[in-house]
Amino acid sequence: MAYDPNNIFARILRGELPKFAVYEDDLTLAFLDIMPATEGHTLVIPKEQAVTIFDVSPEGAAATIRTTQKVAAAVKKAFASPGLMLAQLNGAEAGQSVPHLHFHILPRFQGLDMKLHGRTVADAKVLAPVAEKIRAAL
Ligand code: AMP
Repeated sequence: MAYDPNNIFARILRGELPKFAVYEDDLTLAFLDIMPATEGHTLVIPKEQAVTIFDVSPEGAAATIRTTQKVAAAVKKAFASPGLMLAQLNGAEAGQSVPHLHFHILPRFQGLDMKLHGRTVADAKVLAPVAEKIRAAL
């Protein structure tokens, strides 16, 4: 599938849409999911143009996993979550809705059920302190 340079995450990378960033380096960006499935739901993306895991360069894949590991540790610490789930969907048939490679980081608690995708856009007043908490745990 050809990369759409106007997908939502490409626009976030260009600074055309707002984001709650928690971490950024030369190759990757981590920011809050705007429709969190659990508190602390964070996304990690490569800056390189890649739709799925099959399209990213080995360097981009390595950098994205490194950032995912680093940010996941901070999310786990910030929310004291005993479990931590990663998810990464490839293709619309797998449920991918934004055509730019991303890893979901989801803190998990026993007995707290969740849907993989949130349905409601969270208020900025709710998301801002969540991002701050994660940044402080990095
Ligand atoms: P996926 O279905 O794996 O492609 O997940 C895409 C995720 O992007 C969903 O969980 C959405 O809630 C999230 N999302 C969509 N638009 C935005 C946005 N503007 N900022 C942050 N997250 C977003």
